Amino acid sequence: MNYFRDNINRMEPYTPGEQPQDGGFIKLNTNENPYPPPAAVLRAIKSAVNGSLRLYPDPVATRVRVKAAEVFGVAPEMVLVGNGSDDILSIMMRSFVGEGDAVVFLYPSYGLYQVLTEIQAGQPRAVQYTDDFRLPPDIRQPDAKLTFICSPNNPTGTVISPGEVADLAANSSGIVCVDEAYADFSDTTCLELVHRFDNVIVLRSFSKSFSLAGLRIGLGLAQKSLIGGMMKVKDSYNVERLGIVGAEAALANADRMHANVRKIVRSRRRLTRQLEALGFTVLPSQANFIFARPPMPAGELYEKLKARRILVRYWNRPRISGGIRISIGTPAELEALVGAVGEILESR
Ligand code: PMP
Repeated sequence: MNYFRDNINRMEPYTPGEQPQDGGFIKLNTNENPYPPPAAVLRAIKSAVNGSLRLYPDPVATRVRVKAAEVFGVAPEMVLVGNGSDDILSIMMRSFVGEGDAVVFLYPSYGLYQVLTEIQAGQPRAVQYTDDFRLPPDIRQPDAKLTFICSPNNPTGTVISPGEVADLAANSSGIVCVDEAYADFSDTTCLELVHRFDNVIVLRSFSKSFSLAGLRIGLGLAQKSLIGGMMKVKDSYNVERLGIVGAEAALANADRMHANVRKIVRSRRRLTRQLEALGFTVLPSQANFIFARPPMPAGELYEKLKARRILVRYWNRPRISGGIRISIGTPAELEALVGAVGEILESR
């Protein structure tokens, strides 16, 4: 017997990057931060490991909302805390998208938008980025219930300007979500649009810049009416006690996050130059990864790096099969990568 809804039977699942559990890899494939969270954050989490874990967490993670409001210059009621920003994406889908409703997103971009739309039995509409990864005119679709702009975009690292997003929001009757999971590595953000538009939601993640992918914390920032509505949809206890404590401490130590971001941006520039010298074409990235087209088949390079226990991301999909996405690791990890790439190219 097949018990599943038709849309679940038909859909392809989201495929996360490999998470080898046996160690021994230089892991440059899932955009984690190579630097550990600040000691103060680890201390705060450890001190919360006690008997109070028998109690449920604060359903709305008030302490995180208050601290995030301070950091991002919004009211606490404009903040929704999620179990990673993926949780906020899923809450948005369940809040705004019914069966057959159109959801617009770009290609190539984060694969989860399509998957969540299909789970919802919505109508996914992938529109192609222009050749230089700018917004195409058909990003504007009058019947879109939800439109996603990922900026900086995964996997290209390219950004869309706040002016263009404002224009889209002003001309849209649905929600415009700006997925800013990588915004801390960029010099642009659409955050101020949440004050000007009642249909804009900006997402932030603690998984990349804050070095807390394992804690699963993300934020949705939007006007109070949107956040209030989404509160009705979220799981009652969607963020756990240790997550709340860790996220609050991370925000209180945001200067440490910014110091790590500066190191990563410096490494990004250096790696770009080094790969260009080896004959790669590298897209201009404002994220903690680069998308690089090697002077050899990208799938083969991915396999050969993996054989040397260096993991990067490769997709055999249109427009991106000619390149690999490399997360910015420590200088030592990137030296090892560049050395391995040089050897692989030479041995051909
Ligand atoms: N948005 C984008 C563009 C991403 O690349 C990711 C990470 N895979 C996420 C959202 C989800 O991040 P998290 O749930 O860890 O906050």
